[in-house]
Amino acid sequence: MSTRVDPNLLSEIKEYGDVNVEACFNCGNCTAICPLATDETPFPRNNIRLLQIGLEDRLRQNVDPWLCYYCGDCSETCPRGAEPAEAQMALRRWLTAQYDWTGLAQKFYTSIVWEVGSILLLSIFIILIFALFHGPIVTDQVELNTFAPVHIIHIGDWMMAGFLLFFLLSNVLRMYTFTMRQGTKAKIPLSLYLAEAWNIPYQFVTQKRWSTCDDERPWIDHMILVSGYVLMLIIIVFFLRWFQTDNIYPWYHPQRWLGYYATIALLYGAGRAIWGRIRKNNQMHRFSHPSDWIFPILLILVTLSGILVHSFRYIGWPLATYYTYVIHLSMLVPMLILEVPFGKWSHLAYRPVAIYFQEVRQKAIARQAAEAEPSPIVV
Ligand code: SF4
Ligand code: SF4
Repeated sequence: MSTRVDPNLLSEIKEYGDVNVEACFNCGNCTAICPLATDETPFPRNNIRLLQIGLEDRLRQNVDPWLCYYCGDCSETCPRGAEPAEAQMALRRWLTAQYDWTGLAQKFYTSIVWEVGSILLLSIFIILIFALFHGPIVTDQVELNTFAPVHIIHIGDWMMAGFLLFFLLSNVLRMYTFTMRQGTKAKIPLSLYLAEAWNIPYQFVTQKRWSTCDDERPWIDHMILVSGYVLMLIIIVFFLRWFQTDNIYPWYHPQRWLGYYATIALLYGAGRAIWGRIRKNNQMHRFSHPSDWIFPILLILVTLSGILVHSFRYIGWPLATYYTYVIHLSMLVPMLILEVPFGKWSHLAYRPVAIYFQEVRQKAIARQAAEAEPSPIVV
């Protein structure tokens, strides 16, 4: 098979992050210091070399950038200021664009006009839908479910969940094609894929590899944010009828506390991400791509508007509740539809899948090596 060298690869990947790998002279310090690199996955040096040479196909077939959690140790020890940690981040964005067959991820990552424009268009679409099709407006008391009948909103939720799942899974399928079909020479039996499948939910829930980095704080913050996000998603998709209600539950009711937990977790996680990027006080936040700002800002706006809907409903202000509800959905829908399959949040799927693929690949190679070994000669 011929190997294609793309001389423009480096300039292409520079659109995805502050890459400075021209400065790298391949000393290997970064890989030596990386707590997550192994003999089989000697990143970040291997990726940087592929990037310097322009081996686009090899980079596309590589899952290593997903195995990095941006602790920043490698950048701190790089004698040339080549910023290997940021190169891994840029590669993750580039890979997200490579997996996405629609081309939208590439547009969103390389053009702020595309990303903000799409969010605004989708927001206006949601506002128009409500302007044209809302239910009766009751003004002597709050009747949110008359204004926006929950069974119709729930159908919309399911349609949105189906849309997200379709695009995310089809992109994961392309990831599989690049990494496991084109990028793996070992023959992999189906039984091995099945035996290792537990890695996907396990890594998704625990992000276990990240917890092994020296500084556990980013992992804890991320876990809090993800717990709030996933809880909110489950509430929206599966339990909306329980949550979008005109009944006022007592303060000790679990419906209220689940909602409060998700709200606090989202505000804390997104707030810390934004604060870190403003202060640039750790490696992970020294460089910020526009997509690093847009997602947490959307998350904060969605959460704050959700708090306002909740508050107006409890105070008993009907019009304020209805208008804020529409504003809330006009930010929530673009955030989910654009960020989950095409943007920053897709890494929640790609990371555990990449770890799974790497486990399968390593075990297949080990099996093949064991089978190829000559059996001992019995005298
Ligand atoms: S990125 Fe820096 S530490 Fe890593 S191989 Fe290049 S020069 Fe060495
Ligand atoms: S940022 Fe941390 S995990 Fe990622 S390559 Fe550098 S040292 Fe390894």
